[in-house]
Amino acid sequence: MTAPASFDLAGRVALVTGGNGGIGRGIALGFAQAGAAVAIFGRNTAKNAEVLAALKSAGARAMALAVDVTDRTALEPAFRRVEAELGPVDILVNNAGIANLSGGILQETAESWDSVIETQLNAVFLLSKLAAASMATRKRGKIINLGSMYSYFGAGPIPSYSAAKGAIVQLTKSMAIELAPHGIQVNALAPGWIETDMTAPVRTEALKAMNDEILARTPAGRWGQPEEMAGTAIFLASSASDFVTGETIRVDGGYAIR
Ligand code: NDP
Repeated sequence: MTAPASFDLAGRVALVTGGNGGIGRGIALGFAQAGAAVAIFGRNTAKNAEVLAALKSAGARAMALAVDVTDRTALEPAFRRVEAELGPVDILVNNAGIANLSGGILQETAESWDSVIETQLNAVFLLSKLAAASMATRKRGKIINLGSMYSYFGAGPIPSYSAAKGAIVQLTKSMAIELAPHGIQVNALAPGWIETDMTAPVRTEALKAMNDEILARTPAGRWGQPEEMAGTAIFLASSASDFVTGETIRVDGGYAIR
């Protein structure tokens, strides 16, 4: 007999990159409410401080580090600091992200392309390596990556973004195969259209036609809120999902079903 499903994260340590805003903030706070200790990485120290205070007032042990995930030399020391202060990392959420609206490959510069791939893909590989090595010693861990609707669909004006998000689905599957024998599950969330800073331009008058199209296509008929990502993230972070791995779960109000 296996134990009944538990969504409790008490005693777990989670690291959420890009945890100072948008979806990362929603997930970090959800983890804190589920009982986890939570560390966040983000570049903006004022936003880090706001979320750190919110995590602490939710009763969590918490820390916020000013880390740029594209700074390869910063990742290992920052990861070690989290483990020294909060304990071994049980849950890694690779959420930090940017989208460069270049207009397409004819306009996109190599620098713009590289910055997106470095943030959205290379940092996921590097942080997952660090986390998986630590988790493997305890034979337990959860890695959650952020996919997108553009993991499935092409995106003419943001090709670097869809390239990275498509790769996230495959990297998630590959890591899931490799790490399963070590007791580590690797899954991804594919959010639909979520109201955050990243998507703010779509809610301006200039992109009204695109916004109308999104609302018409989403059966829920509305944008998602960052906090609405937390439930599925808690499931993927908890023992309730111990037999789920390599999966990308859409949380999109039904956007992708038509
Ligand atoms: P936001 O722009 O609201 O937040 C992005 C977060 O990532 C911020 O906390 C930002 O903090 C952090 N970040 C960006 N670059 C770096 C970096 N180099 N180092 C460390 N942190 C960084 O975006 P969302 O919340 O909307 O997006 C979160 C994730 O969800 C992304 O991976 C995105 O692609 C994905 N997603 C979002 C969707 C949406 O509709 N909003 C839909 C599908 C996927 P700071 O600037 O302080 O570093």
